[in-house]
Amino acid sequence: MNPARRPLIAGNWKMNAGGADGCELAAGVSAVAGDYPEVDVLVGPPATALAAVSHQLKEAGDLVAVAAQNMHHEAKGAFTGEVSADMLKVAGASWVILGHSERRHIFGEDDAFIAKKMEAAFSAGLVPILCVGETLEQREAGETLSVVKAQVDASLAELAANAGVGVIAYEPVWAIGTGKVAKPEDAQEVHAAIRAQLAESSDELAQSTRILYGGSVKANNAEGLLSQEDIDGALVGGDSLKVESFGKIIEVAGKLAKQQQSE
Ligand code: PEP
Repeated sequence: MNPARRPLIAGNWKMNAGGADGCELAAGVSAVAGDYPEVDVLVGPPATALAAVSHQLKEAGDLVAVAAQNMHHEAKGAFTGEVSADMLKVAGASWVILGHSERRHIFGEDDAFIAKKMEAAFSAGLVPILCVGETLEQREAGETLSVVKAQVDASLAELAANAGVGVIAYEPVWAIGTGKVAKPEDAQEVHAAIRAQLAESSDELAQSTRILYGGSVKANNAEGLLSQEDIDGALVGGDSLKVESFGKIIEVAGKLAKQQQSE
């Protein structure tokens, strides 16, 4: 197994679990993560819960990292309602999810805006997870690979300048929160295309960038997805909100990693 591509299971809590429930969830995830040291695990609470969840996780042994779900690219200023990279770090986040399809489609974020955030995240020392993916209409029009390529291209310079740090999550929009998961071989095709695109920049970038799949990942479909050659982990929404379901996905990743290590 390539050590730069350790399996990564990330939970995106979206606008949920912002109180004591978030701390309880984090504690449960931490207990599971302790059983699977070959898997990197992170949780993404809402911004107001970052500090409490980070504190909880530190107390529990620092086994699970914390990701913010968004940030602004400027360091400070008149941006009502926004939060900067340094502010997220103060709250305990070391990762940030950027360009999630809900940010793109509900809040109108475009590739250029997301690329600015990628640059700001890297320079602040936060690890960004760049989310990309096509809509159902684009998939049906046969545009999946070109859409994803353009989304990755927009942040390629930032990823290349920080090879081995950034992560990409391929999340087909039609699979997010719908229960419709991509077929493993279809997801693999897109992941392989992304890796080939990274290789055009450098082999090091291609071999050191983790590419996660996201979109209705569940315990019962995780194995098929995570065993694909170019799928290095999962970004999980709905099923990251319960220790039981998220824990089972971590368990699947851990078992596959152990299998690969012994091969
Ligand atoms: C997500 O929000 O990134 C996501 C993949 O959600 P879900 O797992 O619920 O489809």
